[in-house]
Amino acid sequence: MSDFVCDNLKAGRNGHLTIGGCDCLELAREFGTPLYVMDEETVRRNCRLYVDSIRKSYDGYGLALYASKALCTIAMLKVADSEGMGIDVCSGGELFTALRAGIDPSRIYFHGNNKTPGELESAIDAGVRRIVADNALEVDRISTIATAKGRTARISLRIKPGIEAHTHDFVRTGQIDSKFGVAIETGEAIELAARAASLPGVKLVGIHCHIGSQIFDVDPFLEAAQVMMDFIAAVRERTGETLEELNLGGGFGIRYIDEHDPVDFGAYIGAIAQAVRAKCAEHGLPVPYICMEPGRSIVASAGITLYTVGAVKTIPGIRTYVAVDGGMFENPRYALYDSPYDAVLADRPLAPRTAPITIAGKCCESGDLIQENLWMPECRPGDILAVLATGAYNYSMAGNYNRNTRPAMVLCKDGKARTIVRRETFDDLVRNDVVPADLQEHPGHPARASGQE
Ligand SMILES: *Cc1c(COP(=O)(O)O)cnc(C)c1O
Repeated sequence: MSDFVCDNLKAGRNGHLTIGGCDCLELAREFGTPLYVMDEETVRRNCRLYVDSIRKSYDGYGLALYASKALCTIAMLKVADSEGMGIDVCSGGELFTALRAGIDPSRIYFHGNNKTPGELESAIDAGVRRIVADNALEVDRISTIATAKGRTARISLRIKPGIEAHTHDFVRTGQIDSKFGVAIETGEAIELAARAASLPGVKLVGIHCHIGSQIFDVDPFLEAAQVMMDFIAAVRERTGETLEELNLGGGFGIRYIDEHDPVDFGAYIGAIAQAVRAKCAEHGLPVPYICMEPGRSIVASAGITLYTVGAVKTIPGIRTYVAVDGGMFENPRYALYDSPYDAVLADRPLAPRTAPITIAGKCCESGDLIQENLWMPECRPGDILAVLATGAYNYSMAGNYNRNTRPAMVLCKDGKARTIVRRETFDDLVRNDVVPADLQEHPGHPARASGQE
């Protein structure tokens, strides 16, 4: 067990926090703050866990896809690719990034609940392995576009299996209310499968589901796999076609705080393999090619964010705000969904935690908090504060609110840190601003011209 929620973090010989062999104080000094720091070895280890589990428990008949929405940069996709993962993208921009990273399109899956015609066309032109169609309009559009190009797109369908999982809890049925996919229980899914099987330009080869995120139990995944296998049998009955691919999505939980207890992935894939094989025997179906799409569990705990502490405000009897030089513009997750995080001070990561603090960002928004009521050692202006397990859905959700510039990202390995995303500049911020001709020679306010100001 590590002293930290992420087992790749250590207190180095001088007592400083280290990641990937790099001293976090030195990283902050060299690259500035806020700074996203990723540990390459942890990302690789996590990728291998999935790739190896499919090999061991499922005879290698499947593909683990990195859900790039968790953290999509060219370098990160290259790392996942080099570990034998496929890549799941859900926008034209993610597809573009994957192609720039040199990912073989035959290892790319394209998702999304409302792909634009332009995105569908790019996916078909690129020859991605799979377009996961969300709805009837999309299936029709894929058919039209592919037919016009003399192509056949191999698609799968996004299904709502009627299982919704949230961390330790899941509910059977009642998942009709989701913007993603088509429901089995309403008959919508089987109708769409029949339609897809009848259209030119598309070949329906599989089904996909994604039942939630940050899930800690194997049971909802097992249940989903069984429902999906029953649906494959129903599709065969209706259309005569046997779908060859079962994609169970992502959603594996990670440890943000001590209380979180992630699923043992090897055990998960073993249990899934068994459940799928049992269903195959029950229905007389061939064993499907299996896909899974971990995002968070590949990158979240591989990353931390370093900040410089600014003002510390203690409101007697109420709380202590510790302001940092980042905020919701580079980590919106607490503001969006109360996500828990742990944090430590880079120069004394094991110092006793003496009082609860609230970590505040620098945006002009009261809700711009990174965490509330987190027990920490006393924080002082100038301290380097590390928020842990920020590798997923931080940079990928970052923006420029208040015209803050997005941080740089470094990838650490064997004590060396290399920049993989450069820090945004003010010039980047105004790059797309356009000044109409009539505003170019700004005359100033008339009052100013007449000297009345
Ligand atoms: C979000 C998403 C994932 C990844 O989910 P994680 O919780 O990051 O593992 C995978 N597949 C699809 C379709 C998704 O929408």
